[in-house]
Amino acid sequence: MHTTRVIDKEFEPYLTAAELDQAIEKMAASINHDYAGKKPLFIAILNGSFVFAADLFKKISIDAEICFIKLASYKGTKSSGQVITAIGLDTDIHNRHVIILEDIIDTGRTMHEFLPQLMHQQPASLELAVLLHKPEAAVFPVRIKYLGFSIPDKFVVGYGLDYNGYGRNIPELLRLREA
Ligand code: 5GP
Ligand code: MG
Repeated sequence: MHTTRVIDKEFEPYLTAAELDQAIEKMAASINHDYAGKKPLFIAILNGSFVFAADLFKKISIDAEICFIKLASYKGTKSSGQVITAIGLDTDIHNRHVIILEDIIDTGRTMHEFLPQLMHQQPASLELAVLLHKPEAAVFPVRIKYLGFSIPDKFVVGYGLDYNGYGRNIPELLRLREA
């Protein structure tokens, strides 16, 4: 089978560019329908979501804004573990209909910690649009309103997702080849 090397690992085809595009088309159609007249604010989580966010946003035909943030996680002083800080959120989300764009939800930890922080700013609504979800890896409950694909708990790269910084420019999704 054709494989692609990223740094020191071999990856095999998983989701084609056409399959990704089709799922994003469907997601955009749902959002266009559900958010008509609501002027939603998309918040894309960098770095991994930038390709997904760009492709989805091009298919959004209603009035909408988009902004980009980075999440930094620190080991908290609390026993509960991580503290997530948003970098670059300079748009006021109070009373806005917010849709978070995330490339992949794995354990759910990041969104589980981050969404309550956003709720403090009292958006009119807050939902998640996620390209990939690994249900087998779920540890923290996260409610995903718009989902592209449920995938097995295997490492994937491409379409914005990286392996140690590389592979983001691969136009399709690849998964780690079993040894
Ligand atoms: P969570 O907080 O849900 O465990 O982690 C989500 C983050 O883990 C994603 O935003 C992504 O950065 C990273 N991640 C989880 N699974 C994968 C994967 O299969 N491939 C890549 N490239 N990143 C992943
Ligand atoms: Mg991410």
